[in-house]
Amino acid sequence: MDTRRHIKNAGRIVVKVGTSTLLYDNGQLNLYRIEQLVRELADLYNQDREVILVSSGAIGAGVVRMGLKKRPTGVREKQALAAVGQGMLMHIYDKLFAEYGQTAGQVLLTRDNYMQHRQYNNSRNTLLTMLKMGVIPVINENDAVAVDEVKIGDNDNLSAMVAALVDADLLIILSDIDGVYTGNPQTDKNATLISEIDEITPQIEKLAGGAGTAMGTGGMATKIEAAKIATASGVTMCIAAGAEKNILRRIIDGEAVGTIFPPKEAHLKARKSWLAFGKRINGDIVVDAGCVKALKAGSSLLAA
Ligand code: GLU
Repeated sequence: MDTRRHIKNAGRIVVKVGTSTLLYDNGQLNLYRIEQLVRELADLYNQDREVILVSSGAIGAGVVRMGLKKRPTGVREKQALAAVGQGMLMHIYDKLFAEYGQTAGQVLLTRDNYMQHRQYNNSRNTLLTMLKMGVIPVINENDAVAVDEVKIGDNDNLSAMVAALVDADLLIILSDIDGVYTGNPQTDKNATLISEIDEITPQIEKLAGGAGTAMGTGGMATKIEAAKIATASGVTMCIAAGAEKNILRRIIDGEAVGTIFPPKEAHLKARKSWLAFGKRINGDIVVDAGCVKALKAGSSLLAA
């Protein structure tokens, strides 16, 4: 419960909003909710906090603009729609933030920006400079050009990587579900919301299951992956319902909403964080049975 009390001191906050929160079930933009979100973020900024928005919805907005009935399955079509929708989304964010006298700046990332150490540092420096200049970064994956091998694939993981990258104090993931439940709330009426998860055990991972909604790509599983990255990097994470009124303010006031994940340790240094979550795995190490035995007994594969 201490974690909830400390939240109000969070100075650097990353907020991730999923497609299902930004769109109505019929696929149209939920302007009311987008407006509320920007208003809350602007208010956090006015409290001298630094805010970063990781927003999904590019493909969804592209579907709206092109008047399609549903999201296409082809990669190229989705990429083309992301190019259309990202511009649309950014236009809306820019306009709404400007109404509150604030400036938003778009940053589109791919896994590459994390894998290459130089790019990792560059992205970090850009984001930190934007914050220093008082600009609110609005981030998404660069869906229009990212292909499978450089794709992060879901914005839950992306937002955790961003939070680690900028040493955020808090990551809030706004979703269509208000947190992690002890069972599936749609089928199990005894399922209750877990307010705090101190340890991501295999049982918690099992609760998270798979799959997301028709519009978004994440589900609870990617949120749990995000929690692992965030908490291991010294970032407190909270999953909460994007549809709830004044949700950001309530989380920051320490109200018991959503599911909170306390951080494991103090912020990892940028290089350590890159080593842990950014670098690409380029091959496999194959060891024989004797070596397995030695490793299990505590020996190291590294030269002395
Ligand atoms: N980057 C995708 C988009 O803007 C969303 C990824 C996700 O849903 O997590 O449509």
